[in-house]
Amino acid sequence: MASTGIAPPIIADAVVDTIGNTPIIRLSTTGNRAQIELLAKTEYSNPSGSIKDRVAQRIIANLEASNKIKDSATTLVVPSSGNLVISLALLSPQHGHYKIIGLVPERTSQDRIQLLKSLGVDIVRTPIEAHADSAESQFSIAKKIATDMPDAILIDEFVEQANVKVHSEQTAEEILIQCEGRLDVLVVGVETGGTITGLAKTLKAKIPGLKVVGVEPEHSSIHDGVNRSGAWKVEDIGCNFSPSILDKSLVDEWIQVTDQDSYSTARKMIREEGAFCGPSSGSVVAAALHYTESLPKDPSQKLRVLTILNDTARNYTSTLLSDDWLLEHDLMDETMAKSVAYHRH
Ligand code: PMP
Repeated sequence: MASTGIAPPIIADAVVDTIGNTPIIRLSTTGNRAQIELLAKTEYSNPSGSIKDRVAQRIIANLEASNKIKDSATTLVVPSSGNLVISLALLSPQHGHYKIIGLVPERTSQDRIQLLKSLGVDIVRTPIEAHADSAESQFSIAKKIATDMPDAILIDEFVEQANVKVHSEQTAEEILIQCEGRLDVLVVGVETGGTITGLAKTLKAKIPGLKVVGVEPEHSSIHDGVNRSGAWKVEDIGCNFSPSILDKSLVDEWIQVTDQDSYSTARKMIREEGAFCGPSSGSVVAAALHYTESLPKDPSQKLRVLTILNDTARNYTSTLLSDDWLLEHDLMDETMAKSVAYHRH
């Protein structure tokens, strides 16, 4: 049974049937509670801990519908920041045990690399500064492997329409039901653009006046497409080009967030909200707080703002959750430093 319905099964036949139908929680980190209702869709509640379970499920369903998967003879070649590869590996045993080669950027945390290895994925690390068109980029290497290898299929989430459709047809429908159609602002982290484009397409059509805010790291190029070979620490959002599946006309505003703000907001979410989210979710919540602070105050109106928390903090025990790593990369702020002092007594 595919989990495209809204009511979750009481006893699922398999883990894959628990993909989607993620809870929305009300956050209390905003200092503006009288006028802002800040919400978060907890995509970290998906079985592998990220939103990409939904995308992987749709990609595999499409490949099976066109008879492209030939059991373990098939190899999926996947250039991805990591989460999609984990999700595809989660689905492999139930779909003929296809093999996976994951091309993941060097910034990908050791935790995710370990997880990928334990799932039997072959990993190729690629330089983060390589532009998509260069021979060393994860895309060029993936294309070469997929061309040279028999029965290999290139899965490119940056051009894959399933990456948009699953969010426009499934995630957005869940949001409409959960929010009872009432939403003023949607704030989404962007890498491939699949989530923001899919959600904005459906939600803007059904909720007049909805504002959509795209979030990327400082030095990323998505908002204007100008390659500045930017470097940042936050994984899974940002890119040094504008992906083709991203429909920028649906995005009303772009906010760039520093690594420092992203990591400290994620740590705050974990400590104060009990929301076990990763650094890109920290970027999204930091951007939502910044966006709402800049709005004109209208005491007669309470704005409902929805953020998407895309993956779990447990992907980052060696980075986000490591005080030593934060200190080493100069990402420890005052509030986090207090917790270090406390823990080291
Ligand atoms: N946050 C996390 C944790 C992700 O895995 C991704 C996907 N790379 C994103 C944000 C960005 O989503 P999208 O690729 O749909 O733009």
